[in-house]
Amino acid sequence: MARLDILTANDRDGEYPSSWYAATALSLDPFPAAEGEIACDVAVIGGGYTGLSAALHLAEAGLDVVVLEAHRVGFGASGRNGGQLHPGQRLDQDALEDMAGETLARALWDLAEESVALTIGLARKHAPEAAFVPGLIHADHRARFVEHSHAYAEKLQRRYGYDKIRPLERDALRAKVGSGAYFGGTIDMGGGHLHPLNYALGLARAARDAGARIYERSRVDWVSETDPVRLGTGSARITARHLIWAAGGYLGDLDRRIAAQVMPINNFIVATEPLGALADKLIPGREAVADSKFVVNYFRLSADGRMLFGGGESYGYRFPRDIAAKARKPMAEIFPELAEARIDHAWGGTLAITRSRMPHFEWLAPNMITASGYSGQGVGMATLGGKLAAEAVTGTAGRFDLMAAVPTPRFPGGVALRWPLLVLAMVWFGLRDRL
Ligand SMILES: Cc1cc2nc3c(=O)[nH]c(=O)nc-3n(C[C@H](O)[C@H](O)[C@H](O)COP(=O)(O)OP(=O)(O)OC[C@H]3O[C@@H](n4cnc5c(N)ncnc54)[C@H](O)[C@@H]3O)c2cc1C
Repeated sequence: MARLDILTANDRDGEYPSSWYAATALSLDPFPAAEGEIACDVAVIGGGYTGLSAALHLAEAGLDVVVLEAHRVGFGASGRNGGQLHPGQRLDQDALEDMAGETLARALWDLAEESVALTIGLARKHAPEAAFVPGLIHADHRARFVEHSHAYAEKLQRRYGYDKIRPLERDALRAKVGSGAYFGGTIDMGGGHLHPLNYALGLARAARDAGARIYERSRVDWVSETDPVRLGTGSARITARHLIWAAGGYLGDLDRRIAAQVMPINNFIVATEPLGALADKLIPGREAVADSKFVVNYFRLSADGRMLFGGGESYGYRFPRDIAAKARKPMAEIFPELAEARIDHAWGGTLAITRSRMPHFEWLAPNMITASGYSGQGVGMATLGGKLAAEAVTGTAGRFDLMAAVPTPRFPGGVALRWPLLVLAMVWFGLRDRL
């Protein structure tokens, strides 16, 4: 039996999935495929936020940079995600303080704050079509979680001087999210949401204009760890002084060292029909919402009044046959009035998670680095990851090294056995959500 290939398991070669994002994307001419012999300062594998942000920052610093994207820029998680921009790291400050101590936890908070500011700034400057909307609500699906959410907001205000978050009691939350499923939570005006594919395309446009050479339909199928690095696609051989791996959850096992640290998992989104007046009853302030479930439900309204609802996970390369059914179920539990809503688009995407849920940054060789494993919180952190990778290449590695110092232990079982063990763990946590 032919081996499943993650870059083609669920998608057509060189095509975006049929998402609401692709249907409403800004127009950007396709980039050519890489051909022949190419020499550059820096080669980047992957045209998502990590790779495009790295390319933009490197090109602005005057380096000759080449991006190799197997399909289209923003084809991967960066063009299909929930569009939610989260303040803070993927682990909260309590967990980071326990893991790394107060000083490092504070430095990680500052980096996360920078990731949000950087993303909003780049989106405003280079991707106005991404239409950033401020406001991110955290909604607790258990009454007993609310006290902790409020205490955490208070801690951020007091200890981190962060004044954009405030607690929401049950009634205040229900005025903002028209659902009986939640008991309280917080609202954070530092975060928000954007059109993720338009953001990726805007970054690509800016990187191109700054001088980066971007190649699409240019899948890298071998890398030779030499100095300079050599790598190749079906039709090109590239020689580069540095290589940045930015392949996210679509890496496959092209580099087994990275693959041992990050695991691809799938997540699903539906876009309903435009909801008209109902939209304003469900989320009148148009904030983004993420809930407290282990397998998180996240949702928001699109500019044209659709519910964009994300939730449900699957493991293994293949997506389930009926993606719409997978996301409709939790959506109807939260908003019963959407049980019969027409679903116009349903799509899945693959993201990279790590065991600790903190991103995986690593020097693989003196001229080769990787940044990935944002574990579902990559809109901001992958944008920053690309910038830190660019800094590392240009000789200021301190902030990249700080992220690289955060432990991301290997998955037990190695590349072959990590899935069965993850599935067991996820079934357990999924059960906890339901019980
Ligand atoms: C359904 C879904 C919902 C999400 N929701 C959110 C959210 O609301 N908020 C949030 O912060 N994060 C969210 N995330 C996570 C976020 O999208 C990712 O963390 C982020 O986009 C990662 O960016 P990246 O550049 O590292 O990877 P990607 O965007 O996946 O880019 C990797 C690219 O590398 C290319 N590639 C791989 N191998 C090769 C090769 N051999 N040769 C050439 N190219 C190659 C791929 O084609 C792909 O385009 C979500 C992810 C998914 C899938």
